[in-house]
Amino acid sequence: MAAFLYIHIPFCIRKCNYCDFLSLPYDAELVQRYTNALCRELEMKKNLADELKTVYIGGGTPAILPETFLGKIFSVIRRHYVLSPEAEVTMEANPGVITRRKADALIALGVNRVSLGVQSFCDAELKRLDRAHTAADAVRSAEILLREGVKNLSLDLLYGIPGQTATTWMKSLHTAQSLLPQHISAYELTPEKGTRLATMIDAGILALPDEEQILQLSALAVDILAEAGFEHYEISNHALPGFRCIHNWNYWDSGEYLAAGAGAHSFLNGCRTKNTDSLNDYFTNLERRIIPETESQRLSPEDRAREFIMLGLRRREGVGLEIAANLEMDIVTAARQLVEDAFAEIVDSRLRLTRKGLAVANTVIIRLLQSLGM
Ligand code: SF4
Repeated sequence: MAAFLYIHIPFCIRKCNYCDFLSLPYDAELVQRYTNALCRELEMKKNLADELKTVYIGGGTPAILPETFLGKIFSVIRRHYVLSPEAEVTMEANPGVITRRKADALIALGVNRVSLGVQSFCDAELKRLDRAHTAADAVRSAEILLREGVKNLSLDLLYGIPGQTATTWMKSLHTAQSLLPQHISAYELTPEKGTRLATMIDAGILALPDEEQILQLSALAVDILAEAGFEHYEISNHALPGFRCIHNWNYWDSGEYLAAGAGAHSFLNGCRTKNTDSLNDYFTNLERRIIPETESQRLSPEDRAREFIMLGLRRREGVGLEIAANLEMDIVTAARQLVEDAFAEIVDSRLRLTRKGLAVANTVIIRLLQSLGM
């Protein structure tokens, strides 16, 4: 049983050139079929959920759906699931799809947290990523959402964009915090193989900033957002006090969750399962009342221990030594060298990465796993 529900809506205005998520251009007929199939899946999975602490509707761009379809999905959730009175209900949105009417509709449906995919406040960078909106659209959308009453707004930004400089990145960070959101995510752009952006980089048409520049951009985010009162609570996430993302926290805590939608992953009873990526298979299975899972893996104790380290150390407060010992890991001994090198520290019976360690977290976590023999 899970208290955290993820719902995937794979439709966007158009495909950004760096995107390797399951997302397709909006198509009215497909969206209608998808909504029906998703509602059926949610109904079929109702007995797998406890009282829900969070609902996270991601994508894609879920806010692109017309209000009637969003209404249908929410009425299925409310009919078949119990939402805790304080449940965090997040919806991902993009600047191109937010209007006053859409913002009012989201609030009326019970969405109390919006994660807005801004990525940059520089039009040249947005163009280079083939985003379907401008910086002015992003400012307008954030203002509309806050004015209409969204009390928990998160803005997503990207650093490491080809052509990005410290100056343009500082402009994005300053503009983001001047809009007074409660949460800001600053992700490093890492183009996956097969995306149009990766192909352009391989062909030498565009170039990513080098490692030193990336470290500088990452440090700027931490400093500028800390100065504006944001707590750097996870590698890529910064929140005003009381506004950490509860849904994502559960992932970093190796917690279980239920998911619905094409390509969505669930983690229940120690087992990770994945729904089909194929919309056709998704529709056909659900028409026959079959859960459209294509992969299922029971995590071994070693898998769980590895995930506990990989996910837990992403958080500023790191991992508890007692839980590590229960998972039969001697992380104090394994981390000795990292502590000596000032990449990690032990505070209040927890192992956590220092600021220096967080900046190169992937390398540090791999070193720790190797010391643990994983
Ligand atoms: S808006 Fe997000 S999910 Fe949609 S195509 Fe762009 S990056 Fe992918």
